[in-house]
This record gives sequence, structure tokens and C-alpha cells, in this order.
Amino acid sequence: MSLGVRARTALAVLVAGVLLAPAVPATAAPPAEGPPTAGAAAGPARSTLVSPCQLPTPVTGWQHEGPTNYATWLPPSGTVRGIVLFVDFTNAAPVSGERAGRTSTFGAAPNVFTQASYGALNLQLTFDTTWRHIPQTHGSFAGYQSNFFTQRSYLAAAVAAADSAIDFSLYQIVYVVPPKSATTFDISPAWVAAPGDGVTADGAELRHAVTFGQDVDYWGYKILNHETGHLFGLPDLYSYNSADSIHRAVGGWDLMGLISARAPDLFAWHKWKAGWLTDSQIDCRTTTGSASAVLTPLGTTGGTKAVVVHTGGNTAVVVENRQISGLDVSSGCFQPGVLVYRVTTSVFSGGASPGGSVPPIGGPFPVEVVDRTPGSDVTSCGTDEKALVNATLTAIGHTVTYGGVTVQLTATPGNNREVSVTVV
Ligand SMILES: [Zn+2]
Repeated sequence: MSLGVRARTALAVLVAGVLLAPAVPATAAPPAEGPPTAGAAAGPARSTLVSPCQLPTPVTGWQHEGPTNYATWLPPSGTVRGIVLFVDFTNAAPVSGERAGRTSTFGAAPNVFTQASYGALNLQLTFDTTWRHIPQTHGSFAGYQSNFFTQRSYLAAAVAAADSAIDFSLYQIVYVVPPKSATTFDISPAWVAAPGDGVTADGAELRHAVTFGQDVDYWGYKILNHETGHLFGLPDLYSYNSADSIHRAVGGWDLMGLISARAPDLFAWHKWKAGWLTDSQIDCRTTTGSASAVLTPLGTTGGTKAVVVHTGGNTAVVVENRQISGLDVSSGCFQPGVLVYRVTTSVFSGGASPGGSVPPIGGPFPVEVVDRTPGSDVTSCGTDEKALVNATLTAIGHTVTYGGVTVQLTATPGNNREVSVTVV
């Protein structure tokens, strides 16, 4: 592995963490990458999800695969408005064309959500028209990647710099973009504050933000989608243990795993969690036995999108149909077919445990793809994706078994896929 690759891998570990306000005491240092210590995400869970395949959430706080508590996280439905601020510093100015370049890059992001949500989410980005000046050095905000309060001070400084021109009460999300010369800002963490811990402007409390860094040049526009996914309560699916093969769990099959993935849609599980799929589009199984299902492609609107087997406790096995449609499977590397994965609510974002410790090598992670062809790396398909590009069931008769659930591909009518799912 080259030094450059290692550097990028380390970046990927850090790039997408989201910091939450700790509860009390407010002056305590929050964990760098761990759950809040208390009530930030306490309160009622999402009440519209009543399926018995919904997984209980054993812990509150941070992002997980259980029902989302929208008292803290942002509901991903309807029109969500974001303001994109550009800020410079006493020791960092932009170069000509930099704002236009970032505006062009991020302009591609809203359509990802439009497609992934089947039109349920309309992210509207408003780009500020000039650079706003923060009368401090960019180094004043060193540590913003891992300290809730430092990141909040940076957000507050950006909002104050623009407040005379922007009515912040119109927006649910604030995106902050520095010039590339502001080298303090290397990565692009999301920021979520519990009610009362946000930044107030124009009578509104701003509790959802992303502070971008130079890694935008590496990831491109989809980093906005990934980080905004955190604001909606979605967890990271790569490992927070940089000593691990960090994309081992889902490779490039979900935007919350590898941001530059070539199958960058979101799992049916995430779409269900976000409310973009209804309970009627989930074939929920809670008992033993065998039954068939016909799954429509994840990237198209309508039909049954997944079989979900609640295997007990905090775990489910999910079966979905990944085809070349919508956002999905844009590269020849990824083999269209039936994808099977395990979901658990026993660990947080990045595989972190409720105590916030670094996850063990190998997981468990919130989602893990079941590989039909373990060990069959397709080396031409990229370091981070090669192990799982052919995880799918692609031919009639292909079968995988995980945790007492056996899934077999039984028919391929058009782009639909018929599967037999047997639970013992
Ligand atoms: Zn992330």
C-alpha cells in the first residue's frame, strides 16, 4: 500500500464523523468520536414505523440503524433548505474562481437525494454570493474535527459573519465552506446539536450543519450527501478502526460506506428508516418457514423493495434487488443482482460501541454485506470495493445463508428478482 493510499484511508476514517452535543455538564469535553453521554437523542422514537421488523434500539444517542429520533435529527422529507456560506480568515483568502468551483461541485448533490428518496426529499441549496470574513485565523478553530464546542464556535463565527445579509430562519442546514488555503480544515464533519445547544440567529436555532474541508477535492459532491445523511440520523458503515480494512463491511454498496462508491444508492434499510419506503414495501418475516418474494429494483419507484427477516433481538437480515437503475450500480465492477446483508442496532456509527471505544478489527458493524463469493476479490475494481463487488446472487440457483436465513434466487423476470427466503 502506498503512502498516498494510506493517507487517503486515514482520511476516510475521519471524514464523516458527526459530533453531537453532550448532555450535562455542558462544559465537559465531549468524546471525539463517540456517543453523547446522555439526553441528546433521548425522547420518543419515530412513531410511524410500526412494523415488527423494526429493530429495538438498545441505546440512545449518536447514529444507529434503529428508528430515528427526529427531536434531534433532521427529518429527511419534503423541502429541506440549506444555506452554503463561504468564509475567509485573516490569514487565508480564496483564489479567483474558488467559490464558483465549489458552487458548481455541490450543485450536483440535491439530485442524489431526489433520486434516492423517490422524490420524497427535496434538498434546496442556496449559495451565498460572496465570501464572508471571519476576523480570526483559521488555526483558531483547530480541533473542529473532534470537538463539538470548537466546531460550534466555527459555525457561530460563520453565521455571525453572514448574518447581516442572510435570514437564517429560512434554513434548516448551514454548510460552511472555507478557502483551500485555510489548511486547518482538512475533513468535513457533520454537526448536530440537541435542542438548546445550537447556534441562534434571526430567532431560529441552527442545530444541523456541515463544516467542509479540503477533502471535498477528493470526494466530490457526494460528500455533501454523505454528511447530510448524518444530519438525517444515518450512521457510518465503514470502520472507525484505521487498523482495519475499513470498508470491509459494505464496500461501495451504500453512500454511508464508501463515499466514492460506484453503487452509491442507499440500502433499502436506510430508505425505510428515512421514511422513503413505506412499511407496505417491506416484506417483513418474523417466523420460521419458507416463502417467495418478487423484489423490484432499488433504484426504481414502487413495488416491494426488500425482504426483512427479524432474526431476533437487535438483528435483521435484509434482501434487496440491486440493478442498473437510478443511482445504482453505475460501474461494470458491481454485479447487479440480489444483495443480502445483516443489520444490527447493537453498535453505533462506524462500529463504535455505546461507550464510544474504537471498534475491534472485523466488527461487528451496523450493516455487513453477506458475500456470495468470499475471497474472490476483483482486484481491478479498487482497493476499497474489490472484495464485495460480486457479493450478489446473479444467476438462478445462487444461494447464501446467514444466521439461519437462506436466500435463493429463483427467477429473473425483467429487472425484478424473485427470491425464496427460508428461515429456520
Ligand atoms: Zn460519515
